Amino acid sequence: MTTDNPFFAASDLPYQLPPFDRIETGHYLPAFERGMAEQRAEVEAIASLPEPPTFDNTLVALERSGRVLQRVSAAFFNVTSSDTSPELQEIESRVVPLLSAHGDAIMLDRRLFERIEQLYAQRDALALDAEPAWLLERYHTEFVRAGARLSEQEHVRLRELNSELAALATEFGNKVRDGMKAAAVVVEDAADLAGLSADAIAAAEVAARDRGLTGGYALNLILPTAQPALASLHNREVRERLHTASVGRGSAGGDHDTTGLVLRIVRLRAERARLLGFEHHAAYNIADNTARSVDAVQEMLAKLAPAAVANARIEAEDLQEAIGDEFTLQPWDWAYYTEQIRRDRYAIDEAELRPYFELERVLGDGVFHAAGRLYGIRFQERPDLPAYHGDARVFEVFDRDGGPLGLFIGDFFTRPSKRGGAWANALVPQSRLFGTAPVVVNNLNINRAPEGEPTLLTLDEVRTLFHEFGHALHTLFSQVHFPKFAGTRVPRDFVEYPSQVNEVWMLWPEVLANYATHHRTGEPLPQPVVERLQAAEQFNKGFATTEYLAATLLDLAWHTLTVEEAEAVTDVLAFEAAALERAGVAVPFVPPRYRTAYFAHIFSGAAYSAGYYSYIWSEVLDADTVDWLTEQGGLRRELGDAFRDGLLAKGGSADSMEVYRAFRGRDPLIEPLLKRRGLISVP
Ligand SMILES: [Zn+2]
Repeated sequence: MTTDNPFFAASDLPYQLPPFDRIETGHYLPAFERGMAEQRAEVEAIASLPEPPTFDNTLVALERSGRVLQRVSAAFFNVTSSDTSPELQEIESRVVPLLSAHGDAIMLDRRLFERIEQLYAQRDALALDAEPAWLLERYHTEFVRAGARLSEQEHVRLRELNSELAALATEFGNKVRDGMKAAAVVVEDAADLAGLSADAIAAAEVAARDRGLTGGYALNLILPTAQPALASLHNREVRERLHTASVGRGSAGGDHDTTGLVLRIVRLRAERARLLGFEHHAAYNIADNTARSVDAVQEMLAKLAPAAVANARIEAEDLQEAIGDEFTLQPWDWAYYTEQIRRDRYAIDEAELRPYFELERVLGDGVFHAAGRLYGIRFQERPDLPAYHGDARVFEVFDRDGGPLGLFIGDFFTRPSKRGGAWANALVPQSRLFGTAPVVVNNLNINRAPEGEPTLLTLDEVRTLFHEFGHALHTLFSQVHFPKFAGTRVPRDFVEYPSQVNEVWMLWPEVLANYATHHRTGEPLPQPVVERLQAAEQFNKGFATTEYLAATLLDLAWHTLTVEEAEAVTDVLAFEAAALERAGVAVPFVPPRYRTAYFAHIFSGAAYSAGYYSYIWSEVLDADTVDWLTEQGGLRRELGDAFRDGLLAKGGSADSMEVYRAFRGRDPLIEPLLKRRGLISVP
């Protein structure tokens, strides 16, 4: 096992594709162990060098360290997301804490930081080129942010805070998950579910049996506030119960109440931020993103919020008109009457669209076709290369000059061993240091059609296919030297920008005409339907923007508290209500997309804390770029080359906003986003 472990040497397959045909579950743990031990030894060698630090003997050496660990991590975390098993989960639960301690040991090594600090002090004299200079800047920043400058005593407190915060995050996540199950709404009579599809009613019956009930139906909740069944349930009283159960999660006392955890998390995050030299957690987190400051984020939100709320109020008037004067619009009526108006106004029926969105055509004649027209690249399926699952398809990508560019793996179908959602990840990051070309995977969760039938997509699935492929392009076009900067390794509030831009081609007339043909008759999607689809893009955007902004503003309200302010808060719901009021987004019929007590994005993990704003921050750049593409004539090779070479190719190898400014010739404007969402501007 140890001698023939495929992770111990570089793969000899094209593009160093991991040799999935030879990787067995038993290879992972020994490879992680050896990978960490090797990197520890490599880092020790750097830290204990008697020679003074140079760029090469310290930073390049760090970039070169941990090759085995990098290989095994990329392959392992790909399969634990895409095709997991009890054995893999067992390995994961053993490996994750080891990896975190391994990372800490490097980031808090004083000798290593001392070398980086010395280099940083001489940075002007070193006269480095742009990318090496940015590497020094980034290493220095990351060590400082991890606490490298703190005293021994402060280190002790930092580790305590980190470990308690990690435990609290897990506890919050577990309580939200269990509370969500407990909050399911049970009805006795199928007639109470009128309006739901037969499938949904059957699922509710199964859900009731799963809860040990001998009769009745259970409507399970999903994470955000809005519950899909609210769009179709005719019975207003059931709608009210479902909505009330959703917004009440986590704050009703009892075992699933999370409000005590929220107060503790917020307080400890504020303390950690202060220890690291920041006013509060938001300042700490946003400083390392393109927004740079809480003020910059608040400024953008302040431009959007009044327009979003004004539009939501107009939409509410429309809904009240549809309701008549029988009752006053309530939050549990919103989705139901919105669907009625959508049907009346746009006459779009999902079931009638799907025959025009056949997976193979959307992929080949839509997604690949648009990339071919714009960037001059070409795709060829390589069934001879091994993937990690029979559903995962490997394509070789050829560049605009005909030469090899990288591999794209498409893994589109849902299966029990795959987590939910859609995502992209790099199996091999591009880097000139190692001479590696990119290998990227796109994962979706599309239901497979029965044997012999074509797989037909929903409009949302078509959008997701274009979106995830945008991340794939960002990865494939990477032209960086250091692996740290490859492709999508950019700040959190920048990473969704290129993928969102790629969504524009979905409804672009020439692209749509090329792929949206009826899978049986070959008829193109009728022009009036195309026009209605385009018009419907702006429908209900006042609501969607307001609920999103409300959650974003809540995230910021909690994370802009100082230690003393956090200690003074005792009532989570009162704080939440006051924060929404103050931000001007307290609209009674538009609750936040997440309320505090089940805001798992920001409390069950650190990744999106003080970062929920990232989606719309990226969308400002996206809309500003799409505006440029549209003005310049769309699918033109010159435009593709400009976006690719000026932006996508840079990865994280420079300050992302400077890259944007150099590409666009100015700062991003917010107006294209307002226009796209159909938001009237408010003086
Ligand atoms: Zn994305």
